[in-house]
Order: sequence, then C-alpha cells, then structure tokens
Amino acid sequence: MLEKKIGWKFDNTYSKLPNYMLSKINPTPVKNPEIVIFNHDLAKDIDLDFSKIRKADIAAIFSGNKLPKGSEAISQAYAGHQFGHFTILGDGRVHMVGEHITKNKKRIDIQFKGSGQTPYSRNADGRAALGPMLREYLISESMYNLRVPTTRSLAVIKTGEDVIREKNLKGAVLTRIASSHIRVGTFQYALISKDQKILKALLDYTINRHYPELKHSESPALDLLKIVLDKQVELVCDWMRVGFIHGVMNTDNMTISGETIDYGPCAFMDNYDPNTVFSSIDKLGRYSYFNQPRITKWNLERFAECLLPLIDIDSKKSVEVASNVLKEFPNKYKNQWLKMMKNKLGLFEEDSNDEELIVELLAWMHKNKADYTNTFCYLMNKLEINDKIYKDQEFLNWEEKWKVRLKYKNQSLEKSLLIMKESNPIIIPRNHVVEESINHAAEKNDMSKIFQLLNVIKNPIKYNSDISDYQKNPISKKKYVTYCGT
Ligand code: AMP
Ligand code: MG
Repeated sequence: MLEKKIGWKFDNTYSKLPNYMLSKINPTPVKNPEIVIFNHDLAKDIDLDFSKIRKADIAAIFSGNKLPKGSEAISQAYAGHQFGHFTILGDGRVHMVGEHITKNKKRIDIQFKGSGQTPYSRNADGRAALGPMLREYLISESMYNLRVPTTRSLAVIKTGEDVIREKNLKGAVLTRIASSHIRVGTFQYALISKDQKILKALLDYTINRHYPELKHSESPALDLLKIVLDKQVELVCDWMRVGFIHGVMNTDNMTISGETIDYGPCAFMDNYDPNTVFSSIDKLGRYSYFNQPRITKWNLERFAECLLPLIDIDSKKSVEVASNVLKEFPNKYKNQWLKMMKNKLGLFEEDSNDEELIVELLAWMHKNKADYTNTFCYLMNKLEINDKIYKDQEFLNWEEKWKVRLKYKNQSLEKSLLIMKESNPIIIPRNHVVEESINHAAEKNDMSKIFQLLNVIKNPIKYNSDISDYQKNPISKKKYVTYCGT
C-alpha cells in the first residue's frame, strides 16, 4: 500500500555488473530513526510523493530500517588515488538502495550514507555523524541552486545511536541521489582486476547509462574520454565561477557523469586568494582553489590509463591517441574559463584585452583581500552591505576601464547585467553561517538556522532585500578549517 502512494519505480542494473564490482548487502537497522530534514521538493522532482506517508514510516525507510519494495541494496567497489596515492576503497558506509526511474525515464541512484558496515569498511564503523551529513545536505543543495552539476540530498535521518569520534556524536543517515555513482576510481578498480571483460562491461554500462550516443562510435573508449574531459572542464569552471573548493579531489571523488560528489571538507572561498585551502589534511595545498583545474587534468590522466586497453590492442597507439585528447585540456579549460569570467563581468563580443582586464581585477582582489562573491555583487549593484574597499583608487580605475569595455560595439548594459546575474551568486553558503547553523542543529536540536539558510540559498541569483546578513564576510583572523566528513 505504502509503495503505491510513494511511486517508487526501481530498475536495478548496476548489480548485474560482474560480482567483482559490488557486494550485495543490506543496511544495518538503527535504534530510533527520526526525520531531521526531508526534501519534499526534490522528492516531487523525481516523481516521489511522501505527503501521505507518516513521519515514522519516512524515517524507517530513509534510515535503512524498512527497505522499499523493489530495492536491492548493494555497495560499490572502487579504488582511487587519495592525495596521489593509490588505494583500494569502496563504499565503506554507503548502501545503494536501487535505481529509481522517473516519469520522464531518468535513472537515478538512491543511496544511503552512514547506513552501516560493508565489505569495504576497512575496520571503520560504517556510520556518519549528524553534523557532516547536514553539511553535505546544505552544500549540495546550495550547489544545485548555484547551477553547478551535483549529487543532491533527499533526507537526513537521525539514527538514535551515537557514533564515536573524538567525542560521542549523534549518528545520522543521509540519502543522496545522483545520476550515477560511477567514478574514475570505479574504472581504476576494474582495471586492476586484470580482466578485460570486467573493464569492457563497465565501459559498456557507462556508455549505455550516460552517453548512449557513443554506442555506435568506432572508438567508444576514446570518445568516452573526450566527453568526460569536456564535462569535467565545464564542472571545474563552474566551481571556479562560484569560488567552490572541493577539498578532496581524489580520483574516487570524480564522477563520470560530471556531477560534483562527496561533500567532505569542501567550502566556499571568501577573500579572493588563489592559494586558498580549507581542509585540515591538505597540508601541501594539492587541492587549493587555483590547483583545481590542474588536478582535474591529473585525474583525467588516471582515467585515460584505465581506458588504454580498450582503445587499441596496440598499446603504443592507445597512448598516442589518448595523449592527443588529454593535450587539449589546457586550451579547452582556458577557453571555458575565459567565457565564464567574461560572463561574470557581462562582457560580450571579443576584445583582445579581455583577459588582461579580468586578471587585473583578480590581482586587485588578491592584493586587497576583497571578497570574491561580493566584488561581483558590487559590480552588479547588488551588494547590500557597505564595504569601503570599493572606494580604493586602483579599483576605481579598473572600474572605469570595465565600464568603457562594457559599451564596446554599443552593447546594451541591460543585456550585460542579465548575463552577470545568471553567472554571479548574490549569496553563497558562507563558512561561518554554515558552521553556526549546523552547530545549532547538532548541539541544540534547533533546525531553524538551517531552514533559514536553505530558504535564502534557494534563490541565490534573484535579488532579495533581506540578505545583508548572508553577504557579510566575517573579518576573522582565525583561518577557517574543514575536516573530512566523518
Ligand atoms: P571519503 O573521504 O568520504 O571520500 O571516503 C574515503 C573512503 O573511506 C571511502 O571508501 C569511504 O567509504 C570510507 N569511509 C569513510 N568514513 C567511513 C566510515 N565511518 N566507515 C566506513 N568507511 C568509511
Ligand atoms: Mg569519497
């Protein structure tokens, strides 16, 4: 009865891949599941309806206590380069419940995170704490609203059990949805099987699921590399656009679909500094803001290595053609970045001085510790707070040049403003706001600040007069530090 009302339509295909790639395993039931937050809008978007389902039943479903009919829980195997070092990983605390098909035939993974141990847990507890799960919910939903491709969050359920970290914390299960969870690391795991049939099965599966247009290609593996490269160029430019720093761009955290995945130590940059790093474990700045495109390329090289045996039986030839694809990365990135930055400044047409104009602004921001998001808001006349930094003579000189450039070829200023509004967030989930709202929820049982932030973030591009608190950059001397989501 329950199932009918909800509208689940499971069609589980990943579990038909060779056994080597996954383990069939159910979540471990929890003591006392309770809804913390449930994304009814997202449920509706994927044609699920929980409006007539009792809260206790929703909590039972999304904690893993009562699996929906048609689900077939699995954990996926994968490997990955973590900070450059190759490791065998896999879903250590994740259960994929199944693939739900929406009315317009979109296939979506429904996945629980923090749902108990799996064969890939490597002595860890398979559980997650409430704070980090709320953090993933907040940031992934913000990214979606900032128009960055991303996995999304459907629910956070408290388990009623503690998880033991440095201290005892409340346990929680997050439900994440994604167009798939196939990662570069999934291909790396298939490669080390040394069984070409497994690698080929994964390639076919991926193409079928994400890029069916390649089904009849003469060189599907090479074309997959090209397409994933393009997707990742777009993705990393989107991160650069909104000042997002992923923090842990290991190859197991890079999807083949081009969606952002795994919100652990990620955070948004406030003052513009290309060397910004937030993660406590990223001591050498491998995943700094500025390094993100370089690391994207590095990860794509690892992806290419996995595809080599499928590109050509002649390994020399494989290396040669794959290298030619990878060689295009710098140019493709540069072009996409320039296009993105021109949009942020409302620049139409081609002018050979554009790059210089952009770089000059970024250099000024860096030198003066200007807030990245707010500088573009200021230029759009959408900054609700008064910041005297924009009276600086060097900035005023730059602004004059920019205004002259805007009028190039009689371009309309309205059109420029429109494209700027599409490209520049008025609001980002600022670190201090995220932290405060999560602390309130996790320690004081008060979700109001999270709901407020989600409400404002829902429309980060549209102007709203009540947002000055969310635009403030706390001029705190203390460096903001993030930790891997445990
Ligand atoms: P991440 O840093 O979230 O990308 O995770 C890296 C690896 O550690 C993945 O294989 C996770 O499944 C695993 N992992 C992280 N936390 C836990 C946990 N509490 N229990 C089991 N496995 C975990
Ligand atoms: Mg991960």
